[in-house]
Amino acid sequence: MSCLRAMKAQLGDEAPYAAAGAIFIDDKGSIFSDIESPSGTINEQPSIKKVHPSNNGKPVISPTTGVHELLECPVCTNSMYPPIHQCPNGHTLCSNCKSRVNNKCPTCRQELGNIRCLALEKVASSLDLPCKYLSLGCPDIFPYYNKLKHESQCTFRPYNCPYAGSECSITGDIQMLVAHLRDDHKVDMHSGSTFNHRYVKLNPLEVENATWMLTVFNCYASYFCLHFEAFQLGAAPVYMAFLRFMGDDNEARNFRYSLEVGANGRKLIWQGVPRSIRDSHRKVRDSHDGLIIQRNMALFFSGGDWKELKLRVTGRIWKEQ
Ligand SMILES: [Zn+2]
Ligand SMILES: [Zn+2]
Ligand SMILES: [Zn+2]
Ligand SMILES: [Zn+2]
Repeated sequence: MSCLRAMKAQLGDEAPYAAAGAIFIDDKGSIFSDIESPSGTINEQPSIKKVHPSNNGKPVISPTTGVHELLECPVCTNSMYPPIHQCPNGHTLCSNCKSRVNNKCPTCRQELGNIRCLALEKVASSLDLPCKYLSLGCPDIFPYYNKLKHESQCTFRPYNCPYAGSECSITGDIQMLVAHLRDDHKVDMHSGSTFNHRYVKLNPLEVENATWMLTVFNCYASYFCLHFEAFQLGAAPVYMAFLRFMGDDNEARNFRYSLEVGANGRKLIWQGVPRSIRDSHRKVRDSHDGLIIQRNMALFFSGGDWKELKLRVTGRIWKEQ
């Protein structure tokens, strides 16, 4: 309810600009077909085509049109939240799009001005809608203005690709992401709960930031990502290894893992709880929640002549009873 209250407070300022009865979108056939937006040409929107003018000249919504379709921004097709804007002819658009269209209505090219569509905002506040991850299994229904908050936390929401080192925009469920990691990122796949990996780098003294190829482990009917990288921790160059769980945080907490590096009678052991991939790779790294090895120590463990990192990391994943 708090966001609704905030919305009403906001409305106070701009209410005089709102035009009455402007929540409907006219049906003008292919009106969208030649319109340019910042992201290119906007095609005809199916939600627009379902709106028909009635005989009396008053626009009506055809029975097949859900009100929530009117709440879909005709420009970007995202759901619209206050402030919802409109042009003097009543074409609506979301505040995100409004800021990108140079004050010109993308539908009729009239100057946009600063007109709020209060009626549509009020209609929205009366709606209960299913979570947008309904098709992924979420059964919940929410008042329109609570929906967004839920969806940002919904346990059925897709996961981001856990691959680090590139900006990958792929999202999906775990099975889909495992296939994506294997086929598109060519990550190393590994079955079983114990591992023994050697991380190699020539001229390690020249490299301050590096990310090694991710390894994905499949055990306990789950998937885990082992990350290894080099970065500066304060003034000190370090390597860090850590594990992330491909699933939600509450499930991740059922697992433990250990990592071990050593040579010549010295040994560093880390035991931790894998972090959910809901936490970004960067966030986990920056919280230092993993095995951190000073570069000098890592090179000592590598043996040889300090010209090459050859660090053997052994580890194990288990389920906490
Ligand atoms: Zn939009
Ligand atoms: Zn317009
Ligand atoms: Zn949900
Ligand atoms: Zn990816």
